[in-house]
Amino acid sequence: MNIGILGGTFDPIHNGHLALARAASARFSLNRVLFVPSNIPPHKPKLSLTPFIHRYSMVALATQGEKRFQPSLLEAPDFTVPRTSSSLKRQEATVNYSIDTVRKLKASLKKSDRLFFLIGIDAFIDIAKWREATALLSECAFVVASRPGYSLREVAESLPEGLRPASPVILPFHKQPAAGDLVLPGVTLHLLEDVNYRVSATAIRAAAAAGKPLARWVDPHVADYIRKLSLFSRK
Ligand code: ATP
Repeated sequence: MNIGILGGTFDPIHNGHLALARAASARFSLNRVLFVPSNIPPHKPKLSLTPFIHRYSMVALATQGEKRFQPSLLEAPDFTVPRTSSSLKRQEATVNYSIDTVRKLKASLKKSDRLFFLIGIDAFIDIAKWREATALLSECAFVVASRPGYSLREVAESLPEGLRPASPVILPFHKQPAAGDLVLPGVTLHLLEDVNYRVSATAIRAAAAAGKPLARWVDPHVADYIRKLSLFSRK
């Protein structure tokens, strides 16, 4: 089986995430895509995120119509029913690292399964700073999607130093910014050029706070959930 994993804060999940998962599914014949809401992403530790349970619920709502798409609890905080609100805070404060998540997932897969790590270019350009980046890149293939405002040229240059290709290898790659592959010792990167969905969760939170309709950017059930629970309204 071909399995995709798409991690994110999903605060909220939006059509850009779904477009990425659909494009990767079509191109790599993915049988399953796991959407993994992160608990506390290491790169955004101080960000005040919507509680995990709401972000997970929105992922479940947005993926319910597509059989291959599954919400995942791989990075869920340890929800033993909290006795006090401070013990809930402590549980939610666990930071997740992708290398641990991928290893945990791979331990549950068959040898014949192929894993694809789906990621947008804005996140990939920081990959060298991730925990055990080189090990992570060798654990599975990466599918890096374009995003408005970013160039796929930045992909090769973002690799950890030891993996960065020498310039003769980069050059043909630069000349072919259309979808392509970069196969180097210890890393396989697939580039998806056709995901150009101009949307971000940040913009959606701002639109929700301003009372604007969200239907253009998110699944209707997610829009309803945000509205009914006043998730992003200004306090
Ligand atoms: P925020 O605006 O809060 O930073 P976001 O919209 O970037 O959030 P995340 O949940 O942080 O969403 O993203 C999860 C993953 O999806 C990341 O790899 C990100 O690069 C990718 N992604 C998000 N939006 C898009 C998009 N419009 N097109 C392609 N990839 C995207």
